[in-house]
Amino acid sequence: METMKAVVKTHPDYGHAELREVPVPKITSDEVLVKIAVASICGSDVHIYKWNDWAAEHVRPPQIMGHELAGDVVEVGKNVKTVKVGDYVSAETHIPCGHCYACRHGHPEVCMNLKILGVDRDGAFTEYIAIPEIDVWENDPSIPKEFASVQEPMGNAVDTVLAEDVAGKSVAILGAGPIGLFAVGVARVSGATTIFTTDLNDYRLKLATKMGANFVLNPSRNDVTAEILEHTHGNGVDVVLEMSGSQKALQQGLQIIAPAGRISLLGVYDNDVTLNLNDGIIFKQIRVYGITGRKIFATWYKVANFLSSRKLDISPLITHRFPLEEFQKGMDLMVEGMSGKILLFPSPKRTKT
Ligand SMILES: [Zn+2]
Ligand SMILES: [Zn+2]
Repeated sequence: METMKAVVKTHPDYGHAELREVPVPKITSDEVLVKIAVASICGSDVHIYKWNDWAAEHVRPPQIMGHELAGDVVEVGKNVKTVKVGDYVSAETHIPCGHCYACRHGHPEVCMNLKILGVDRDGAFTEYIAIPEIDVWENDPSIPKEFASVQEPMGNAVDTVLAEDVAGKSVAILGAGPIGLFAVGVARVSGATTIFTTDLNDYRLKLATKMGANFVLNPSRNDVTAEILEHTHGNGVDVVLEMSGSQKALQQGLQIIAPAGRISLLGVYDNDVTLNLNDGIIFKQIRVYGITGRKIFATWYKVANFLSSRKLDISPLITHRFPLEEFQKGMDLMVEGMSGKILLFPSPKRTKT
């Protein structure tokens, strides 16, 4: 039997991510087998590691973690038509059913029977992964593998920023986790004028400056509302991107948004939130967008175009690289928030036992 190394979530509890030797997956007729060159750690991998309520609801250990990847196709199922051996690919991680109400309305990203790679089935922190043909994204060969691996979270940022245009507009990005940091860069190259970024983590605020933020504010010492109003002639910002999942940040976001502005919500909240809808949204005619996943595949084209054109340089955001065996170092950094994107490199050898 052929085996491979994999980071496996072994128990439904905090931690319990172990490097194990597991069988190389067998593909079905509609899947392809990808040899992973690089995988990146996502915030949702941290949720699975920490085992929050969302993870407990979706993940059934033992299961291979991870979902962001770039690699090469080494085998295709017999019904696969659009992908061939040797293709350089990444993967959309939302696996739509193709026949529900949402799918048939052209919104597979919010499929009612949605399955997610590395959440509902084995993931990418390993050497080989089986991917349904419908989720395979063929990469532009000019995009380095390190960048190709992070297109999936970058897609979240693209949809959050570009739910409407930002050209000539002031933008406040609340939360400078990796997706918030991608959003800074996307807003910058999409024509935003003044970009504010808030976070409690100074390490990540420094990265926000590198990605193009004009003002970085730490709510633990800055009066965010006062400073944003001061730098916008008292009007507030045209666009708020809530990417922190903090109730307080969201409440503040509605105070700093200019009348007739828009807010996009990507952050996910642990609990129900209380908002002043009258003053925050209704009387200001604010447009609200909920963002989840990416448009399959319209967003991928935008992401790839940003990268292949060299219009957007995401290299400051890739802060750490580890061999797969040192996965734990990467996870510890993510838990502490002392990183941008962290890349994992599986060992190249396929072993026969
Ligand atoms: Zn992700
Ligand atoms: Zn569906």
